[in-house]
Amino acid sequence: MADQTRLDAWWRASLERNEGGDPAMDTVTYTQLVARFSIPLTTVELFLSKEPRLQLWTQGHLVHAVGMEHGRPMSCIALFPQQFQVLEETPDDDDDDDDDDVRILWGPTGTSKSVVLIIKGYFLLRKGCGTVFVLQSSRDGAAAAYLVGHQVRETAGHGAGSVQFVNMAGVGKKDRSGQYHWIEEGKKKVQAWVEELCQHAQTHGRVHILADEAECDVIAEIYRALKQRHVRFTLWAAGVKLDVPADMERYVRKLTQPLRSPPAVVREVEQADDMKDGTVPAYTRPPVSAPCDGPPVLTVGHYDGNYSDRQGHEGGWPWQCARCGELVADMLRDLRVGCDDNAPHGQGGLTYSDVFVLGAMFCDTDTPYGHPMSPAPFIRGLESRGVPTRKVDRNDTAAVRQLAEMTSGPTQRAAGRGRDEAVTVANEDTVWGLERPVVVYLDSESGDISIGGADITGRLRSVSRSTAQVIWVKNVRT
Ligand SMILES: [Zn+2]
Repeated sequence: MADQTRLDAWWRASLERNEGGDPAMDTVTYTQLVARFSIPLTTVELFLSKEPRLQLWTQGHLVHAVGMEHGRPMSCIALFPQQFQVLEETPDDDDDDDDDDVRILWGPTGTSKSVVLIIKGYFLLRKGCGTVFVLQSSRDGAAAAYLVGHQVRETAGHGAGSVQFVNMAGVGKKDRSGQYHWIEEGKKKVQAWVEELCQHAQTHGRVHILADEAECDVIAEIYRALKQRHVRFTLWAAGVKLDVPADMERYVRKLTQPLRSPPAVVREVEQADDMKDGTVPAYTRPPVSAPCDGPPVLTVGHYDGNYSDRQGHEGGWPWQCARCGELVADMLRDLRVGCDDNAPHGQGGLTYSDVFVLGAMFCDTDTPYGHPMSPAPFIRGLESRGVPTRKVDRNDTAAVRQLAEMTSGPTQRAAGRGRDEAVTVANEDTVWGLERPVVVYLDSESGDISIGGADITGRLRSVSRSTAQVIWVKNVRT
């Protein structure tokens, strides 16, 4: 079963022998059979938050739905050796004489860092630890924390108390040069939480912490405090840009194989400044080649104020432009987003909730309609063509949480969810850690002004969220 080509040849030959074959053996059944028999030994079942595309790269890379388990839709994913090694390695491999289990997963976007954290949390709960703490240590880490916590809890099926969220986002802040500054009460807040952890450890023997999109200064503070108090602990953190302190360097494990985005998207992400200068580790080739390059990036041209004939465009930045909204709406229609008739093989097509519209614009509710950073004109353009939108304020905890836990796809739709399908319009920092099949990136450069720009933040923060299609709204340059 290792060789898909040989299998296909066998399948075609047997069809010819049977003169049309077994009528019960349709394409879907065949594909699912192949999926079933192609599963390598290292697979893990996870709660299904998104209907997976039935992916058959070759042996060793597979995501498919395996149906319901105790009322929860589950998916099966095959692990690559790189992920598997991180999970399998015993904590004793350190030269430490204690049994603390510490890992720092470092790698570019879409390399399964969150998935590994989720599997780790699931293993911990399955082994009988009563509670996993999911720590948000940076302001932009809210969505990632909700995603990891939700997936761990749903995969394990252990009820609400099995995962506890802890928010340490406000204890300090990075300045432009990347230097971390604690606020006055910041360290005290961390120390108070460590105190709680010590109490927890007295009753339960050990504390378990997962931290996605981690802020290393906060993680190191907690790590050192727990060490000092001789608390036994698990601390698994992950991130894209990490300043790992010297005393924690031995815990770093790199995850660098692109698993989220197809090659066409990965090539765009690689051109981000932070990837070119090594701030973020470079991608490495996965052990199997991608089945296809992925759909090419689509572009929409925004004619800014440098043009005398603006062809209906307005404003400096694309989000100030209703015309750009209309053009994107037309492209979404061409991609059959939100159409009921677009489902091949009953797999379910793209819904409006499969789309992120991202950029440097301000999506907070207190941004006035006429503010230059308000995306109101772009949204007006989308809605004038019948595309429903949902603007997410980064301070709206409930909305961000819903975005991270959002379920869609046929299984969920059948269960009555996903009724409020809408395209999500958000600042790119709000969705750090999440992914969607379609990402519309509104370029954040206008003439001579850049307020982030594609190479500075957009490629990493926005474009990398896409699992399939990128629509890039760019300023047309003279
Ligand atoms: Zn425009």
